[in-house]
Amino acid sequence: MSATFELTTELLRRPSVSPDDQGCLDVLVGRLDPLNFQSERLRFGPVDNLWTRHGAGAPILCFAGHTDVVPTGPREEWNTDPFEPTVKDGILYARGAADMKSGLAAMIVAAERFIAKHPVHKGTLAFLLTSDEEGPSVDGTRRVVEVLDGRKEKIDWCVVGEPTSDTLLGDVVKIGRRGSLSGKLTVHGIQGHVAYPHLADNPVHSLAPALAELTSRAWDNGNDYFQPTTFQVSNISAGTGAPNVVPGELRARFNIRFSTEQTVEKLQQTITEILDRHKVNYTLEWFVSGLPFFTPPGVLSAAVQKAVQEKIGRTPTLSTTGGTSDGRFIARLGAQVVELGVINASIHKVNECVRVDDIEVLAGMYERVMELLLAT
Ligand SMILES: [Zn+2]
Repeated sequence: MSATFELTTELLRRPSVSPDDQGCLDVLVGRLDPLNFQSERLRFGPVDNLWTRHGAGAPILCFAGHTDVVPTGPREEWNTDPFEPTVKDGILYARGAADMKSGLAAMIVAAERFIAKHPVHKGTLAFLLTSDEEGPSVDGTRRVVEVLDGRKEKIDWCVVGEPTSDTLLGDVVKIGRRGSLSGKLTVHGIQGHVAYPHLADNPVHSLAPALAELTSRAWDNGNDYFQPTTFQVSNISAGTGAPNVVPGELRARFNIRFSTEQTVEKLQQTITEILDRHKVNYTLEWFVSGLPFFTPPGVLSAAVQKAVQEKIGRTPTLSTTGGTSDGRFIARLGAQVVELGVINASIHKVNECVRVDDIEVLAGMYERVMELLLAT
């Protein structure tokens, strides 16, 4: 089996459910230190982070990723032990196999091979690794980026190893992500008897027209790289359970995934305008879980596309779909951010898996990106 496969399984045996790293970063530092990387462990709260560099000065090419995994879910639904990596018919099964320990192993092995061939390279090869991407994402990449920003350290190019591929390794590369804005809405009414509605104020009725407008609205058409903005109600509840009581209150939660055509302020303004116009009596709390980021096609995406094209004979699609990622924090440093990793069909599910052959090919893609950008 390949070095990349071996390192992947070594990481998978560690049950690093977020944010507990379970020594995964130690394993990776143990591989990088002999290559003369200068490693800094940055621990914030319960979260282990690593910032490590090889070489000096600009340009700085950084690979980013996370060692933590989501919980296994019901163990009895797994066909194999989620923390005992198992290969069957060329597929490797374990929690974190796709998201994203194979990606981590691929980037570390790529660095070993690249530095063996190019001990003296241009600029800096860096890694930014965290054990809190799947959790609250507060003490992970976000905090490391704050430290780097405080020291005026820059990242020019960042490759995030998240699983981005759809059906074939390398078929999709992400060059941005939508933003995510959530709202917690409480509609206030007056409880009463259903037979005496003039003495009550039904919050379900007062919200209904506003909700119809919110859910049918075309927020924007997206643009060349972003899907249109979408609004989804995730929770709604009202009522006492009795059929003859008008409820006094309604609670709802909603989420908006938004393109670069929107801003948080513009979305908040639109939503409050609609609620106000329909005379809804409400209180509303907002949560911004991520701003959109976007790397226009450029030096980094061209290098990643070329590396993929050479390995699979196909040019990847540049996309901004899917959930948020830690790329949103790194982009704030002014970095170009591109995400490339294995097939994501099984992530966060039971029986998470990755194709064994893909792990090694991914390492080759990462190594090629290093060569294209840093080889002298
Ligand atoms: Zn991930």
